[in-house]
Amino acid sequence: MHHMTLAEIARGLADKKFSSEELTQVLLARIAQLDPQLNSFISLTQELALSQAKAADARRANGETGALLGAPIAHKDLFCTQGIRTSCGSKMLDNFKAPYDATVVAKLAAAGTVTLGKTNMDEFAMGSANESSYYGAVKNPWNLEHVPGGSSGGSAAAVAARLLPAATATDTGGSIRQPAAFTNLTGLKPTYGRVSRWGMIAYASSLDQGGPLARTAEDCAILLQGMAGFDPNDSTSIDEPVPDYSASLNGSLQGLRIGVPKEYFSAGLDPRIAELVHNSVKALEKLGAVIKEISLPNMQHAIPAYYVIAPAEASSNLSRFDGVRFGYRCENPENLIDLYKRSRGEGFGAEVQRRIMVGAYALSAGYYDAYYLKAQKIRRLVKNDFMAAFNEVDIILGPTTPNPAWKLGAKNSDPVAEYLEDVYTITANLAGLPGLSMPAGFVDGLPVGVQLLAPYFQEGRLLNVAHQYQLNTDWHTRTPTGF
Ligand code: GLN
Repeated sequence: MHHMTLAEIARGLADKKFSSEELTQVLLARIAQLDPQLNSFISLTQELALSQAKAADARRANGETGALLGAPIAHKDLFCTQGIRTSCGSKMLDNFKAPYDATVVAKLAAAGTVTLGKTNMDEFAMGSANESSYYGAVKNPWNLEHVPGGSSGGSAAAVAARLLPAATATDTGGSIRQPAAFTNLTGLKPTYGRVSRWGMIAYASSLDQGGPLARTAEDCAILLQGMAGFDPNDSTSIDEPVPDYSASLNGSLQGLRIGVPKEYFSAGLDPRIAELVHNSVKALEKLGAVIKEISLPNMQHAIPAYYVIAPAEASSNLSRFDGVRFGYRCENPENLIDLYKRSRGEGFGAEVQRRIMVGAYALSAGYYDAYYLKAQKIRRLVKNDFMAAFNEVDIILGPTTPNPAWKLGAKNSDPVAEYLEDVYTITANLAGLPGLSMPAGFVDGLPVGVQLLAPYFQEGRLLNVAHQYQLNTDWHTRTPTGF
């Protein structure tokens, strides 16, 4: 039962092959048995899950239908869930029970999803390895000695290990696509503004975007359908109708123009990944796509720009966690300054503190123009590169990551080495574009992802290309040994 995708679950529930309650019991037992190896959950919500499953079964018995009605999922632990701990992977929020549901959580619950729990993540979504969580590192089910990627590593490891069919995640600089690549999943970062950020604890507000992590493009379409849409509570949410994503899956790829940026194949890319990327290009060519070499000349500046802008926004967003208004409070403070200093010093981990310091520095008087303003100008150049490229092509294709998942601890002493691994994903966030990672092969037994980028609001096109690719390849069906 645990091997089923969301699409298969929807068919099984509709055909009354099993109930949502039965499926939920099976998955909860599987999580209890296998998650100790992975550490992919921060909180389990068994009681909520069973009551939601029973309610979904009752709605189906009353004649209601829907692809998500009775579907078990989990939420990354930065989506606020009413009455349930929402920790953001941090000691700072270890005892925070959200007083309301995030819009994404409320929308999915209304569609009938069953919440099995809250998944582990890098602290405040800062990281690419899921090692900065207060609740400990998450392991990659493909090799327990390797990282699952981050910051949505818990969602990715749980879905890859077949503990559940799909999960929510967020992507500020790659945190949906990169863990998808590292664990053989399909993950979609929507256009900025497509999915409401209300109730999603902010890391870098102009870059953050929620989206689905699942095993197939078909399932990403189903989950995204339940997440997307205008929300008056999020002033950056966009008031555009949400298309039927499942209906977009079956378009022909005949004549689709795919751009492959020459800058992607630089010295930093593992040649074995380059080969798998070329294989995916050939597979799409066979389906009728036309390949064109393109250029994204400002890509080389993206990492430094991102690692100024994201920490700058984080330093502002995280100022609310002061031990007074929000968050952990230290014991016996001597005075107000001591309270602030020790609450923040004890409540935040090392990487979060590093980002706050970098961000506050970049925003300070005298440095603002040199760092923050400069980074914003680069951001515009990166966006302009994409706009020019999309005049010539419909999709941009390349590797999701320069290397496969590294060993746990391998980059702990060198944060910049970890930042460099984000080179292919962060540009989409800087430009606000949608991006998808899909399984494309293996290197040393570890999964490799191919990334597709599309113009604004063309999530349907990304899902279409990935689905057609998945109808003609079987990488996405491979299962990690032991799971
Ligand atoms: N690795 C990037 C960072 O640490 C992206 C994280 C994310 O997308 N949340 O900022």
